[in-house]
Amino acid sequence: MLRIERGQRVFNFSPQNTPVAYASSGDTVVFETFDCYSNQITSENQVIKSRGWDYTNPATGPLYVHGAMPGDILKVEILHIGLDSQGAMRVGPGGGALGHVLEEQRTKIIPVSDGVAKFNHRLSLEVDPMIGVIGTAPKEGAIPTSTPGPHGGNMDCKRIGEGSVLYLPVNVPGALLAMGDVHALMGDGEVIICGIEIAAEITVKIQVLSGLSLPLPMVVSGDQIMTIASEETLDQASVTATEMMHQFIREALNMDPQEAGMLLSIVGNLHICQIVDPLLTVRMEFPLWILEQYGYLIP
Ligand code: CA
Ligand code: CA
Repeated sequence: MLRIERGQRVFNFSPQNTPVAYASSGDTVVFETFDCYSNQITSENQVIKSRGWDYTNPATGPLYVHGAMPGDILKVEILHIGLDSQGAMRVGPGGGALGHVLEEQRTKIIPVSDGVAKFNHRLSLEVDPMIGVIGTAPKEGAIPTSTPGPHGGNMDCKRIGEGSVLYLPVNVPGALLAMGDVHALMGDGEVIICGIEIAAEITVKIQVLSGLSLPLPMVVSGDQIMTIASEETLDQASVTATEMMHQFIREALNMDPQEAGMLLSIVGNLHICQIVDPLLTVRMEFPLWILEQYGYLIP
């Protein structure tokens, strides 16, 4: 099985990045990933001052997928997320939604084993591994791995976890897939700018889909299908994610705008993914069983 070592990483998504590995549609690939601090935090005595976004969130890759051409869709099935034996969190004044009430910088090391994260001596939490940063290259330019967008990137969507399927755009030949920033556990919002940040080994199956129209990025997880939008405000991200899902169900269920809007208003659920990255991310979830009832098969 193809394996990409964590040292082979990028800090932006760009068509200029040189592929570090090559695969074909249908292949299974393991991405070894650093945590978002490049595995530099190993002790609670270590208080790392912010080094800016440019030095955080390494993404392993990029992987060139043979046959992936602009206009195609890259289907990424997340088969497994293997976690390292400890994660880290780092908080401090000025950081995230609570930065104004935090009094000091603090680093926490969180042991992780057998699916359990030991938060403190009283509290152990079941892990729910997810991928914070995953995306393909944009058509042009370089988007930092800190930033989410239509290409994916730092979406910090907790539904992008084991067993989920992510659909990403192919904007350049080969797609140039990269990923990192795994969290052992993260709440919606990621309010203090970190989950349990942890190195990982992510096993994915990749497939190139041609001739399809889907709102991207899109995720299938559990019993829901979801559209993901990242904008400068949560208000706008909410509207965009809703518009994306509306357009999708109009086509998938062959509904007019009114019917699809009413349906979305009663069974669609908006959730905040994160409120701490350079753009803010919202997802709209819609039940899979309704697609099935209409005979729509997810590609
Ligand atoms: Ca992140
Ligand atoms: Ca993170």
